Amino acid sequence: MTRYLLHNLRIVTGDSDFPGSIAVEGDRICDVWKKDNDGMAVSGSRALPFDELPRYFQTEMPRSEVTDFHGLTALAGGVDAHVHFREPGMPHKGDIGSESLSAMLGGVTSYIDMPNTNPPTISAARLSEKLGAAEGRSWANYGFHIGATNTNLSEIESMLEKHEDGIGARDFGGIKIFMGASTGNMLVDDNDALSAFFRIKDKEILIHSEDESIIKANMAKASSRYGDDIPFQVHKDIRSRQACIRSTAKALELAMRYGTRLHVLHVSTKEEIEMIRAAKQYNPEITAETSANYLWFCSDDYERLGSHLKCNPSVKDAEDRAALREALKTGLIDTAGSDHAPHLADEKARKYMSAPSGLPSIRQTLPVLLTVAAEEDIPLSRIASVFSEKTADMFGIRDRGHIKPGCKADIVIVDPAAEHVVTANEYGYRCGWTPYEGVRLNGMVKAVYINGCMCVSDGKATGVQPQGQRLTFDR
Ligand SMILES: [Zn+2]
Repeated sequence: MTRYLLHNLRIVTGDSDFPGSIAVEGDRICDVWKKDNDGMAVSGSRALPFDELPRYFQTEMPRSEVTDFHGLTALAGGVDAHVHFREPGMPHKGDIGSESLSAMLGGVTSYIDMPNTNPPTISAARLSEKLGAAEGRSWANYGFHIGATNTNLSEIESMLEKHEDGIGARDFGGIKIFMGASTGNMLVDDNDALSAFFRIKDKEILIHSEDESIIKANMAKASSRYGDDIPFQVHKDIRSRQACIRSTAKALELAMRYGTRLHVLHVSTKEEIEMIRAAKQYNPEITAETSANYLWFCSDDYERLGSHLKCNPSVKDAEDRAALREALKTGLIDTAGSDHAPHLADEKARKYMSAPSGLPSIRQTLPVLLTVAAEEDIPLSRIASVFSEKTADMFGIRDRGHIKPGCKADIVIVDPAAEHVVTANEYGYRCGWTPYEGVRLNGMVKAVYINGCMCVSDGKATGVQPQGQRLTFDR
């Protein structure tokens, strides 16, 4: 069994931030040592001078390895519940192998992939196929959401009932509902079906929240004004703030009525933040996600980026971005999913109507969070919470997302202050571009451990085989 001491770190968790060291045995964290003010390493009832920890460790655990990280920051590896890895059906955009490699290089050690693939993940059979496809090929730990449709409620209900064999509730993350259409067209627009899904209590209900009728009306207006050459700046008026507000109001009302564990994905407006704040008073199980894209960009960037900023919901205004940053700081935002959604540059080069929506971004989640934290004076504990801990807890991923003894050793080690300028090549997405190209960000990922294996060292893949394990979901 391999044994490592990751020595001399700043360890940041959702509720603590301290100097110390992490001991790993096999695929799990076996010890977390804290350096106290007197320079002693303390774990439980044991205490010894911090500098003597490596020798003590190597005596206690023969054939172990010690790495001194000289004060770099350790966080639990990211748990990203919002990715579109495009498999099956769109391998030219990405697949489980290529996109999970990007995840790993960005410090995301576990992910839950969305169901709008081709074919879509809307049944136990499709889920089984995806689980099979990921086995042995995924660099990060993998899980999948099930997609809701107007007609698959009974299929999902039978999966929620535990079966001795076959696919059950532990085998998928949550239930994704598109309240507005996006890539894959999985719109749930039947009100009875929607209410029935919101009555499900033992799974997270994840919503893409935009009102389809408002979008359609705005689109018709834009088409009549601009013909087939709609400027990309108009995206935020088509996928408008009102579309988000109306849809989220409806979802929050249902979630308050039924006690739903509602997770509002990629919140993009200041109004929704206030609505979610109020709704959480009535139903504390309501949670909110935003992504780096909404924390970093605003409507001023459309002119420069054009289709490279086209995502759904649209990126809104500077005041929305400011409100989202504030909500990240105060804890109203629960999780930061990437919404990593690659498309080829060729596809993005089309005119507005046919340029697909979605941005590749999974390697930028952590650097953007760390940069925003520095700019807004947000404690790193908040970042540890939104990047990994809360997501793992929400989806019942019991032994991951935390730095504590007994948890799987999924750890990212970063230099939060190290600046880098993002280049398309450095970030190696299969699709070949990123909207962050040229942006200066803090937070270089130095090392990544997945299931106790060092998969990234000095920012580069170490050449080990994919280490991703299948996630199980206990909620
Ligand atoms: Zn998405």
